[in-house]
Amino acid sequence: MVGGYKYTPKNQFNRAMQARRQTGSAFKPFVYGAAINERSVASGTGMMDAPLMTLSDDGHGWAPEDIGGDFRGMIPLVRALAMSINIVSVQVYFKVGPDPIIDFVSRLTKTSKSRFPASPALSLGVPELTPYEMALGYSIVANKGKDVIPFSVRYVIDQSGNIIANKEKEVRKKLSDEAKDGSIQVIPEGTAYILRRMLMEVNRMGTPAGGLREKEKGDYQGVAAGKTGSTTSYTNAWYCGFDPRLTTVLWMGFDKNSLTLGRNQSAGLIAVPPWGRMYRRFYDGKNYPEFTDKNGQDLPPEGVIMGATCAENGLSPKPGVCPLMNSMFLKPITIAGRTKSLIPNRQCDGDRDHQKSMDFRQFLQKEYQISDEEIEKGKQDTFKIKTE
Ligand SMILES: [Zn+2]
Repeated sequence: MVGGYKYTPKNQFNRAMQARRQTGSAFKPFVYGAAINERSVASGTGMMDAPLMTLSDDGHGWAPEDIGGDFRGMIPLVRALAMSINIVSVQVYFKVGPDPIIDFVSRLTKTSKSRFPASPALSLGVPELTPYEMALGYSIVANKGKDVIPFSVRYVIDQSGNIIANKEKEVRKKLSDEAKDGSIQVIPEGTAYILRRMLMEVNRMGTPAGGLREKEKGDYQGVAAGKTGSTTSYTNAWYCGFDPRLTTVLWMGFDKNSLTLGRNQSAGLIAVPPWGRMYRRFYDGKNYPEFTDKNGQDLPPEGVIMGATCAENGLSPKPGVCPLMNSMFLKPITIAGRTKSLIPNRQCDGDRDHQKSMDFRQFLQKEYQISDEEIEKGKQDTFKIKTE
């Protein structure tokens, strides 16, 4: 844990534990995770069918109609998370509602529900959390939804070698008690699995990809799952990421909330590369761990359904016409007589819907500077996953 750059009698503020800062898009996995948990969406669900007025990063209103008449383009959910598209996040919020999101995030970060506003701003990461709280939330996702109790001092011995305090033992005992009464499962394993797979896609083709992999940046070649977060006027830059062994959250900003890190100093540019370099050095640049089992497979746990969706737009695929990609969701559940199950999207009509997705792609390129090549690369890799 690093709580700041200098520790002096006058500067003992531990930012990792004490600095609550706006989380921006690093918060979105909690929104998407809650929606998956509620069976409101699948990882490949096409979003953005309905025109919706919403806010961009700099606070300007934006309506889909602005970019070409009866615009009804769609995008699969996982790609929207990878590109960190705000309008989709707001739509997910409206689909699932504030209560399940607030419940989900407060369980994962072990924080009071009162810290989260029940408004669409929630979906854009307006809540303020400490790096420690974010690390806790992400590490429980990494740990298949099971509880994680972080501690820094393992045990204390006196001068004769007697153990006078043993935090490690206490934590083991608590986790073993939780395992017995079932409370160890903070979120269902299936939800954690789908969210982790989506966050791996984010790293592979989304905002952190370049900063992680490129030689002069992170130069990290292992597998990992994670999400960036940048806030208005570049006042905060986050990267929250994990591999099969280790979760690390990196936050950059000034104590004075109004100070900016500088124009265009986004998280992908400044917070991701040091994360990659640290992990590379941790594994000495080789032997990166995998999320796979001993047979080399990363199979979904009980309760996760693997389906196919149209890779162009996330609609139900038209057989023989639509290119396919994987979509994961939870099987129906009945609680107190009420059944929650995923409502499938309408069927893709082929050419016409694909054409609309093309228009949406042009919009994304213009708005988010995502190159054709990057989109194509993402798509080909998606097909590879499908045929595995
Ligand atoms: Zn299609």
